[in-house]
Amino acid sequence: MPLRSPLYSQRSLVLTLVALLGAGFLATSFLSYYASRTSIRDNIVNTELPLTSDTVYSEIQKDLVRPILISSMMSRDTFMRDWVVNGERDTDQMTRYLNEVMTHYGAYTAFFVSNTSLTYYHAKGVLKQVKATEPRDAWYFRVRDMKDPYEINVDPDLANKDNLTFFINYKVFDYNNRFIGAAGVGLTVDAVIKLIDKYQQHYQRSVYFVDTFGRLVLTGAEGGPQGARAGQPLSDLDSMKNLVSQLPQPHSGSYEYSGQGQGHFLNVRFIPELNWYLFVDKREDGDLSDIRRSLYLNLLICLVVTLTVLALLHRVINRYQNKIQTQATLDSLTELPNRRGYDLLAAQAMHEAQREPKPLTALLLDLDHFKALNDTYGHLAGDQVLIGFARDLESCLRHSDIVCRWGGEEFIVLLKDTDGETGLMIAEKIRQHVELQLYAYNGSSLQLTVSIGLTTLQADDTLHTLLSRADHAMYRAKQRGRNRTCVEMPHSVYEPV
Ligand code: GH3
Ligand code: MG
Ligand code: MG
Repeated sequence: MPLRSPLYSQRSLVLTLVALLGAGFLATSFLSYYASRTSIRDNIVNTELPLTSDTVYSEIQKDLVRPILISSMMSRDTFMRDWVVNGERDTDQMTRYLNEVMTHYGAYTAFFVSNTSLTYYHAKGVLKQVKATEPRDAWYFRVRDMKDPYEINVDPDLANKDNLTFFINYKVFDYNNRFIGAAGVGLTVDAVIKLIDKYQQHYQRSVYFVDTFGRLVLTGAEGGPQGARAGQPLSDLDSMKNLVSQLPQPHSGSYEYSGQGQGHFLNVRFIPELNWYLFVDKREDGDLSDIRRSLYLNLLICLVVTLTVLALLHRVINRYQNKIQTQATLDSLTELPNRRGYDLLAAQAMHEAQREPKPLTALLLDLDHFKALNDTYGHLAGDQVLIGFARDLESCLRHSDIVCRWGGEEFIVLLKDTDGETGLMIAEKIRQHVELQLYAYNGSSLQLTVSIGLTTLQADDTLHTLLSRADHAMYRAKQRGRNRTCVEMPHSVYEPV
């Protein structure tokens, strides 16, 4: 089975962590975002919009339904019916009555049109005769023929400089249930629009009215959805098309739709008195933008935390890897580089020396009769001597030289930028220094000697050839009685001592 490289396992660890942290953070961020969004939506759909609709409805009852009730009362008023049945004799009486209704109830106008004389009476007197051929009077004939007891109509008011007026046209019957005319009051549309604007500003949502055919009837000053004007069918609006296509006509209830890239919540409520639907529409961005912002903030924090964790992890892993690498290349007893460390250092030193080219001398050192020392004083004493020897060896070398424990009681030294002659001097210095050294252990002073094999680097040398020459030289030093330095060159053998 192929072994995975440490780099590969580090990368897979980092990737696993990124995936775990990322998935965890994303899951919690999105779960809490969706949970808040659902609860905000539920709140809007089930509480906020119906509440607004209730409030608007009760205001409507006060402001719009009241004129209907007044008109209804007018249609049942005995004075009015008696006056008509008695032949509409004193016009002033009717004018006074209409003026009283208008001023008392704060209406914009109050009117009565007689079916017998086709006279249009209003609060300031007789306005005109209505004619079936006159388009402006079409409303009267429509009211006369309709089945419903009343209608709400938005028309210019002739009696008031053609201001757009919101009329409640009620049918009036005599005591035998015969149609005798139409009566009612009017509000200026301006007033109603102001009312809608007030609702819109106060509740921060769109308010508009739609009739049973799905046409916009009344909106605020700035129009309805997408700026639509009264009279426009909702199905003409891009944003409402989908919604309206699901409904043959408006139905009371809560809806969600999106238009112009915006989510909308809609509450629709039927107002029987007006025979209209009240639409309360709220864009979702207002409330949701806050939690969306906190989602982005959350994600940013998650990203920063993930990156910080990764940076820390990377640092820790690197530090440990360096430590492990150092430990793997150091000998734990003498703290000199071991064979593995040597391989790395020596390869580089040899490469540099061969490239320049510069001389390089290799020494292979083997402690003499070390087994006997171990056997006499114990293994721990041997260890102590090995440590002491390593320090002595280092003390005889330059910082730039390479020294390593080759194994057991054997050491290698690479003397950089050093020819054979200088190398031999250094080897002898080491040998003599060791010979004179006393190593203290458990009250005893231990002495030892070292045999050294020396060789110098050749242009065609490999680590192996260099070392085997040094080994030969050291072997000869042993053979010749130990405690000496032997030199071996590729083509000559030199024995100084
Ligand atoms: P020679 O002069 O021929 O080199 O004889 P020697 O006794 O030094 O050589 P030999 O190879 O027979 O023995 C080496 C000894 O070094 C044997 C081994 O127990 C000892 N040795 C190797 N490593 C350690 C160590 O880490 N600590 C101790 N205390 N002894 C060690
Ligand atoms: Mg040995
Ligand atoms: Mg030995």
